[in-house]
Amino acid sequence: MRITAEPLDLFLRTTFTIAHGASDVRHNVLVRIDDGIGEAPIVPYYHESPQGVMDYCAQIAPLLGDDPFQIEDILARLPRAGASAAGYAAIDVALHDLIGKRLGVPLYKLFGLNPARVPETSFTISIDQPEVMAARARDSGLPILKIKIGAGNDVAMVKAIRNATNARLRLDANAGWTREQAASIIPQLAECDIEFIEQPLARQDWEGLRWLKQRVIVPIFADESAQTERDLPKLAGAIDGVVVKLMKTGGLRGAIKTMAVARALDLQVMLSCMVESSVGVTAAAHIAPLADYVDLDGPLLIANDPFVGLHYDGAKIILPDAPGLGLQSK
Ligand code: MG
Repeated sequence: MRITAEPLDLFLRTTFTIAHGASDVRHNVLVRIDDGIGEAPIVPYYHESPQGVMDYCAQIAPLLGDDPFQIEDILARLPRAGASAAGYAAIDVALHDLIGKRLGVPLYKLFGLNPARVPETSFTISIDQPEVMAARARDSGLPILKIKIGAGNDVAMVKAIRNATNARLRLDANAGWTREQAASIIPQLAECDIEFIEQPLARQDWEGLRWLKQRVIVPIFADESAQTERDLPKLAGAIDGVVVKLMKTGGLRGAIKTMAVARALDLQVMLSCMVESSVGVTAAAHIAPLADYVDLDGPLLIANDPFVGLHYDGAKIILPDAPGLGLQSK
């Protein structure tokens, strides 16, 4: 099999500001293996680069072999520790797309999943002035919103949005608080009828999550603290749920494994995405029937998606029926 990788620059519709920083453009990479395609989202705070992903693809080219149906063996041959997690995930997705195309079935069928069971997605409101965030929330008209906070002025932002909409609200602090800030701010936010809060504390502060859970009643989900299934045992009992993303778990196979481990540890699952195009987000959507919650709004946030894959009917996600990922070029 032949692998190629090329840059994919995605322009955001509005400046995307979260507790880690702001961006107007993201520099992702498209990975192709024969007819299969996958996407490596480059996330500034995970210290990857487009060149790093392209180098990784060139490095592993001799390891792919000729039979995509040997996907378990292929993935086991690829270097993982210290290597590009985003590149590995893109290769996993491209191989699945290729397999689905060879078999003539969409990926959700390959996994035996019911497309009607995809939970409704949230839509992300990134950090801005409270009145701007409230206007975006109201104008979206969408029933589930994920509000980025954790960079100061959090209570004013969430209250402004709550006053502007009856939507279900989820919050994401992106590791922006100390333990003491979280313990003081979360009870004030709870008045706004919050479904759950993602990643209140620093990535490595697993003990802090346990400390916090004894002090607040709003459910806590781990994102940055939960990279792969190996992080979950130490989080069991300290959180209520885990945020699964293909880029963290190494693609579809790792995501399914991570969701199974989460279930075994009584953790709820939200399937989410980075800022990525319809390639990466459609891949995630094919396994979304396995999740309790879904945060797959990447294509809604970008202005130049080069593909059509999943469709949105408000917050409802409709999976494509074509083989593999089911993508079409625009
Ligand atoms: Mg998050």
